[in-house]
Amino acid sequence: MSEIPYKIYLSEDEMPTSWYNLRADMKNKPAPLLNPGTGQPMTAQELEGVFCAELVRQELDNDTPLFHIPQEIRDFYKMYRPSPLVRAYCLEKKLDTPAKIYYKFEGNNTSGSHKLNSAIAQAYYAKKQGLKGVTTETGAGQWGTALSMACSYLGLDCKVFMVKCSYEQKPFRREVMRVYGSSVTPSPSETTQVGKKILAEFPGTTGSLGCAISEAVEAAVSNEGYRYVLGSVLNQVLLHQSVIGLESKIAMDKYGVKPDIIIGCAGGGSNLGGLIAPFMGQKLRGEADYRIIAVEPESCPSFTRGKYAYDFCDTGMVCPLAKMYTLGSSFIPSADHAGGLRFHGMSSILSQLYADGYMEARSVPQTGVFEAAELFARAEGTLPAPESSHAIRAAIDEALKCKETGEEKTILFGLTGTGYFDLVAYEKFHNGEMTNNVPTDEDIAKSLARLPEVNG
Ligand SMILES: *Cc1c(COP(=O)(O)O)cnc(C)c1O
Repeated sequence: MSEIPYKIYLSEDEMPTSWYNLRADMKNKPAPLLNPGTGQPMTAQELEGVFCAELVRQELDNDTPLFHIPQEIRDFYKMYRPSPLVRAYCLEKKLDTPAKIYYKFEGNNTSGSHKLNSAIAQAYYAKKQGLKGVTTETGAGQWGTALSMACSYLGLDCKVFMVKCSYEQKPFRREVMRVYGSSVTPSPSETTQVGKKILAEFPGTTGSLGCAISEAVEAAVSNEGYRYVLGSVLNQVLLHQSVIGLESKIAMDKYGVKPDIIIGCAGGGSNLGGLIAPFMGQKLRGEADYRIIAVEPESCPSFTRGKYAYDFCDTGMVCPLAKMYTLGSSFIPSADHAGGLRFHGMSSILSQLYADGYMEARSVPQTGVFEAAELFARAEGTLPAPESSHAIRAAIDEALKCKETGEEKTILFGLTGTGYFDLVAYEKFHNGEMTNNVPTDEDIAKSLARLPEVNG
């Protein structure tokens, strides 16, 4: 076997031509979205009032294993894909570990994260349907930026509701979105009914993803020719993000490498669901085994302290109900710096896989995450996003275990993005002002007490 290079690049011809739908290989399918009014599964027709028709088809399809990637999307992908799979030789050396560490780097585009993989797909189907534009929410700003790039490329209007604490912490993110022609409103805002209601109930709130989603959905259904798009959680988003795992697997197979442990940070679950997709597929079909670890912040621990139940995806309780590990839709996490991980719920696909024992989850404290981020930056050069650094933390911890036991495990983790817009967070860390905010059991019990009645 030839020596493994620092970066394994694929050629454009080696890029996947289809997305892989993990649900096709799941025996226990993820639970369907429910209509909050009737408690019945949402029909395609109901969903099409909010989402684009083709995306609804993808959302509801639990059986088709492969979805062809349209040529126009593949052409856009070629501007920044295939993304490199990096062998972290320098980090291994620094840790003095026998473990072999690989990471798939998705920060190689202006939006700085993996979110562009789904943004271009969603914008493409909106355009094809003849819509004027789309509305969305953004937490840390990566999704809003990615969607802005995709919409400007295709000539679609884009209205972004940005969680207020990020809007204030990251003014430069907002300006990038405006470079691409989007309008950006801090959420909660007075521009929607639901925003006004939330402001009245929680005066001075710095917002949450759940709030911003409610506002964006309202803006979509009350504007002719608009639909709502979402950057994580939904089945369709995991489908598009499977390109991450498919590329990783092609690159590893080229060198005969098989990961023992696959690690990803988990906010709504899209990068993790995408990274693990082909590997989990093998695991589900009984062809191979992998340890799979989801890493979440202690401040927003959906998998590790949440409940597997039907819940609203948004604070305003206007969206369909999804069955997922949730902290309750009224849970508003502390204003931690990994904005992309501040969602109260989790993908239904990953929730079902976790409930069935196909993967593990752990939560990590904020300061530990930044220690890992800095160690990584100094060894590997790349400045990681705080979200991605959750995966780095777990990868380092696993590599250090290998050092103790002498095991030469192969670890693959997702490096979802870069941290250039997170320097206020790094500054707090350097100044010793960073805290570890952990919700109390009472905090969580209080929001879980408000789960919808369909749970019986
Ligand atoms: C949004 C985001 C995440 C978390 O979202 P998932 O849907 O869980 O992948 C992680 N990392 C980065 C850089 C992000 O922008």
